[in-house]
Amino acid sequence: MASPPPKTAILWFRRDLRLADNPALTVALQSCERVIPVYIHAPDEEAPWQPGGAARWWLHHGLSALAQDIADAGSRLILSCGASLPVLRRLVQATGATQCHWNRLYEPATMERDTTVTQALRDDGVRCESHNAGLLFEPWTLKTGVGEPYRVFSPYWRRCEPKLAEVPTPLPAPRALPVVPTTLESLPIDALGLLPRIRWDQGLADTWEPGAAGADKRLRRFLDQGLGGYGDRRELPAVTGTSRLSPHLHWGEIGPRQVLAAVRDACGDLTAGGAGHFMRELGWREFSMQLLYHFPDMPARPLDPKFADFPWRTQGADALLEAWQRGRTGIPIVDAGMRELWHTGWMHNRVRMLVASLLTKNLRLPWQQGACWFWDTLVDADLANNSQGWQWAAGSGADAAPYFRIFNPVRQGERFDAAGDYVRRWCPELAALPERLIHAPWAAKPALLEQRGIHIGRDYPTPVVDLKQSRAAALAAYEQVKLRA
Ligand SMILES: Cc1cc2nc3c(=O)[nH]c(=O)nc-3n(C[C@H](O)[C@H](O)[C@H](O)COP(=O)(O)OP(=O)(O)OC[C@H]3O[C@@H](n4cnc5c(N)ncnc54)[C@H](O)[C@@H]3O)c2cc1C
Repeated sequence: MASPPPKTAILWFRRDLRLADNPALTVALQSCERVIPVYIHAPDEEAPWQPGGAARWWLHHGLSALAQDIADAGSRLILSCGASLPVLRRLVQATGATQCHWNRLYEPATMERDTTVTQALRDDGVRCESHNAGLLFEPWTLKTGVGEPYRVFSPYWRRCEPKLAEVPTPLPAPRALPVVPTTLESLPIDALGLLPRIRWDQGLADTWEPGAAGADKRLRRFLDQGLGGYGDRRELPAVTGTSRLSPHLHWGEIGPRQVLAAVRDACGDLTAGGAGHFMRELGWREFSMQLLYHFPDMPARPLDPKFADFPWRTQGADALLEAWQRGRTGIPIVDAGMRELWHTGWMHNRVRMLVASLLTKNLRLPWQQGACWFWDTLVDADLANNSQGWQWAAGSGADAAPYFRIFNPVRQGERFDAAGDYVRRWCPELAALPERLIHAPWAAKPALLEQRGIHIGRDYPTPVVDLKQSRAAALAAYEQVKLRA
């Protein structure tokens, strides 16, 4: 008599590209003898926020690393392309699976897709279960005293901090995974078409190691070299003062519970010193997701409705946007940031704030245009963090920098890049300038520029806007908004 087929679960990987602390995987292994790991490339299901160019590059390498980890554990990652539901149904049919497990996502499009998939598979008689791998606190678990979502970070974090002690310890990675039938077909990774056809990605490859092992290395290095001084060094773009875990966290190659546990092991106290500062930044990630969940229009529309009709610039807008994108505004710290972004797919947080302030205030271009450029060029492009970051910078967010507080990029550069090392690295045409002029080359005497071989207006642009005048124009535009409110 033929033996009955093994009890089978499908494990649907999405943005949880790891084996450790992966509750969907752990539960699937506990409840079934056979687990079929699958990744389905279905960018249209995330429309209009399909992964951008840099994110696709990351995904290609992150999936390759995951496939290797799964192979090392004795199984095989099935790669597929196309609408998720038919792919999952085909797998159910081919394997006789009775369960499907995945870890939750919280963007409007992915939540809608997951609801449809759940209903359809349940109608087919498949048990569907979703789990939390991506957040310390899921968006619906914390509300204000009057039952509203939090709109202001400080009270949100005050509520979260005491609960950090209750966050479950991370789950271990399974030592071995059950074998996947050889009859199940999988696409080769190249068939997903994630890498750029014109190869602009060398800088990304030189900077990052996508995958869970790369995430673990970044975390260990940060704990050894960065965490203690994080409070002081996190604002300095010229040094590696932050963890650079953001793309790994976005793709779920490491989860926040793993980060929390490692920080606790290293420091004990999660609320003081460098650890306290660092956990607070992780808190911004939680807060942003909470905002996106409760305000799903956040990527497109200002959370503060008085900004809906903001008088953005019309004349000359395209040329200014292009100068900003290419790192050719003539404002050194801004150009350094935009070039770092283009070359590495990442930009320091302080500089993200400065380039966003220049775009939305001095250039008076809509924050959505900046958010779209970041979306395409950041390896950590994340709908919640990016939308929240841009709305914060533009002054239209829930808990935002007030519009009238306009960063002066020269003063900011002098404060956070005092020796000018960051500008020298990314704008080498200015490298010969002395410290006192590196953030304002237009103030240098012609004789000095001549002597140092620097030609402003030829090798490096003259500023595309006058900082003082454009600041005044931005404030005048804001007055109109205030009057309308
Ligand atoms: C205009 C703008 C756009 C941004 N777009 C994104 C984005 O698309 N994706 C993204 O992950 N972050 C975004 N950020 C937030 C922040 O700049 C990055 O998370 C941070 O620079 C990542 O570097 P890190 O990993 O070294 O951070 P660390 O300082 O080491 O912080 C640890 C982690 O906390 C989280 N975090 C830190 N700061 C923030 C923050 N301000 N908001 C939300 N989460 C935070 C990140 O997950 C980060 O990896 C944006 C900020 C601004 C101002």
